[in-house]
Amino acid sequence: MEQLIDRFGRRINYLRISITDRCNFRCIYCMPKDGIEWKPMSEILSYEEIALFVLVAAELGINKIKLTGGEPLVRKGIDGLVSMLKSINGIDEISLTTNGSLLKKYARGLKEAGLDRITISLDTLKPDRFRLITRLGNIEDVLEGFDVLDELGFKNTKINTVVMRGVNDDEVLDLMEFALNRGVDIRFIEFMPTDVVKDWQRYFISINDIKSIIETRYTLKPADKKSNGPSVYYSVGDGFVGFITPLSKTFCSVCNRIRLTSDGAILPCLGHPDRVSIKEAARKGDKDRLKRLLREAIRIKPKEHALLSENIHSSMSAVGG
Ligand code: SAM
Ligand code: SF4
Repeated sequence: MEQLIDRFGRRINYLRISITDRCNFRCIYCMPKDGIEWKPMSEILSYEEIALFVLVAAELGINKIKLTGGEPLVRKGIDGLVSMLKSINGIDEISLTTNGSLLKKYARGLKEAGLDRITISLDTLKPDRFRLITRLGNIEDVLEGFDVLDELGFKNTKINTVVMRGVNDDEVLDLMEFALNRGVDIRFIEFMPTDVVKDWQRYFISINDIKSIIETRYTLKPADKKSNGPSVYYSVGDGFVGFITPLSKTFCSVCNRIRLTSDGAILPCLGHPDRVSIKEAARKGDKDRLKRLLREAIRIKPKEHALLSENIHSSMSAVGG
């Protein structure tokens, strides 16, 4: 089978799909408080168009899919999309990244549709702070979401935590404990510059500093565990903690991913402005053209991100994180 190998010898097998730019939260590091102009639905790929693209991508060796957003659960009928993707030959895993607030309502349907696993983003355990970070969220909804996943028998649930200096860095140990008690892995992510946070350096805290905080209570042992992404894992007692270091130690040399935006553009790299639009080809059902466009996106995938240079700070909610 043909594989997607880029100019730097990286094999691309992982596709993150943002299915909507909309969200029921307005996290301070991701979206502005107001004044957001949502893309009209006519600009957004339909589920059938997404599935056609995934069919073509699977023929070229993509075997893992992550559904993201915006908040993917605010788009109606996501379980239908999961069923469609699940039936595509060559797709081994479909996972979802969510803010967790709507799991109570939709997790059962997702399980029945065949979703393999879920990552919940959670940056704090304090209700007031949760409201401050997400602007619109209620932590109870998210905590109930964890319970629902347990009841439904979801395995390999993960927590993603973005750590921000002076905002939630005092909760690293509490979040660790929460994850260990629940028996889920937690991954700490370095805060990345985006178009909504101009003074990002103020909030940035490196993974080395986060590790030092954790080591005041826990012993971190390097672990062999691998995920689909760039996380480096350590074992802590019976659990695992992962660290994602887009800035302090880039993982571009082993990057295996591309992204598809909700309005139908392939992003070869999160930290690079290049885009390849597949919308027209998807709308026409032109599989050969979709294949050519996907190969083109892989051909132009840059060696490394340029997140630290100005002007390329994209919107996380538009590209799916
Ligand atoms: N709404 C879903 C959620 O929050 O999980 C999915 C989309 S969200 C854009 C995907 C991930 O990107 C989340 O884990 C979020 O914390 C992360 N993210 C957003 N802005 C970020 C930033 N400036 N730095 C690091 N991670 C960020
Ligand atoms: Fe919404 Fe997720 Fe962005 Fe928060 S991080 S505003 S939940 S898309």
